[in-house]
Order: sequence, then structure tokens, then C-alpha cells
Amino acid sequence: MVSGKKRIEDRADSALRPKRLDEMTGQARVVENLRILIEAAKARHEPLDHVLFDGPPGLGKTTFAHVISNEMEVNIRITAGPSIERAGDLAAILTHLREGDILFIDEIHRLGRAVEEVLYPAMEDFALDIVIGKGPSAKNVRLHLPRFTVIGATTRLALLTAPLRSRFGAVYRLDFYDPDAMREIVRRAAVLLTTPIDDDGIEEIARRARGTPRVALRPLKRVRDFAEGRA
Ligand code: ADP
Repeated sequence: MVSGKKRIEDRADSALRPKRLDEMTGQARVVENLRILIEAAKARHEPLDHVLFDGPPGLGKTTFAHVISNEMEVNIRITAGPSIERAGDLAAILTHLREGDILFIDEIHRLGRAVEEVLYPAMEDFALDIVIGKGPSAKNVRLHLPRFTVIGATTRLALLTAPLRSRFGAVYRLDFYDPDAMREIVRRAAVLLTTPIDDDGIEEIARRARGTPRVALRPLKRVRDFAEGRA
């Protein structure tokens, strides 16, 4: 219950996810910074610069990616480093993106070398270099991709290769939430779950969550089950 890592029971949490920047509690510096980035991109009618989130699990990296897609009013495609096994898998994803779309890559530090090599020109020049044929008759072909945004998330920034890291225009480090923010997150989740809760209850749950929203939501839901079933 106290692990920050995502578990099967957390899948239903999408209803609790904030949808807009205004609904995000805490991480004030990141929220303000993103607001400026988003406003500027929208004013220029350009896709957002590539953004990287770094920080322990359960602090809101995926949530921020969804919030950005809502604020930019674009589609988001979700994937993760370990699930893109071959360069061809990434090529297939990239060729299905539309102008302005967001490609969210969770655990981006776990991308394979060959896959990363495809990602570099895609992020920098919106180009996909492919080789057609084999041997002496093989030809290099450069396909143009629509301008899109990569949002990367990592729990291990140090494992990211320097070339990949340098392709991100903005890198945000998420920190553990302070007690005020944790109380607000528990209060908000209880309202969304239509569960009455008092200040003492909020305090008890918030202070057990080690500054991690995902960890706070689990006991909130278990306590709610208990209260509804037994109280
Ligand atoms: P990560 O991708 O960093 O592992 P998530 O974005 O999946 O974390 O967040 C885990 C859960 O915590 C989400 O279901 C979301 O409801 C909640 N959460 C995260 N950040 C916030 C926040 N700033 N305000 C409210 N809830 C949050």
C-alpha cells in the first residue's frame, strides 16, 4: 500500500486525475512554468516544445502529460520505454501521429539504443530515416513527420543518455508534496469519490502518504470501503 509504484488497483484513478493546470495542487513552480510554455506555444500556433518530467513514482508525471494535452487541446498517445522493443515499433507510432499531437513515453530511460536513434531525428527535425532494401542496393529514405511533442517521464534521470536529454526543451523535476498540498489532494479526491471526510480524517491519511499523491489515494479508498461497509 505504501509503494509509489503503480499497481493494478490504481488503474481506476483516472477519474481522480486533475484535468487542467488550475486543478493541479502543489508543484507551483512547475505549474507556473508550464502555463507560460503553453500560452506561448498557443499564441504562436506551434506545437509545444518537448518536455521531460523527472521524479519518484506517483508524483504526477502522467497526470501532467494529460493536463498538457487538455490545455493544448491535442491528442495524447501513451506508451512506455520497455514496450517499444524495436525501431520499427516506434516508426509505426510516429507515422500515425498528427500535427500537434503529444507522444507520452513513460520510463523513457528504458528505451533501447536502436529505438533512441530513431527518436533523435524525429524530435529534432520531425524526420524519420528509414533504409529500404538490403546490401548494395539499399537506399536511405527520409520521411517527414508532422510536428509533434514528446513528453517523457523518468524516475531515473541519471540513466537518460545525454543526446536524448538534450532534445528536451524543458526538464521539470517533481518533488514530494508538502503537508498542505497533501491535505488538499486528499480533500479533493474525497469530494470526487463523494465521501464525506472531516479534517482529522484528512490529516491521518495525508500524513501517512510520504508526500506522494498515489500513496494517499489507496488508504483513502480502503478507509472509505470500511466506513461504508461497517460504519
Ligand atoms: P506518475 O506518473 O508520476 O507515477 P501519476 O501522474 O500517475 O504519477 O499520479 C498518480 C495519481 O496521483 C494520479 O491518479 C492522480 O490522481 C494523483 N495526482 C498526482 N499529482 C496530483 C496533483 N498535483 N494533484 C492531485 N492529484 C494528483
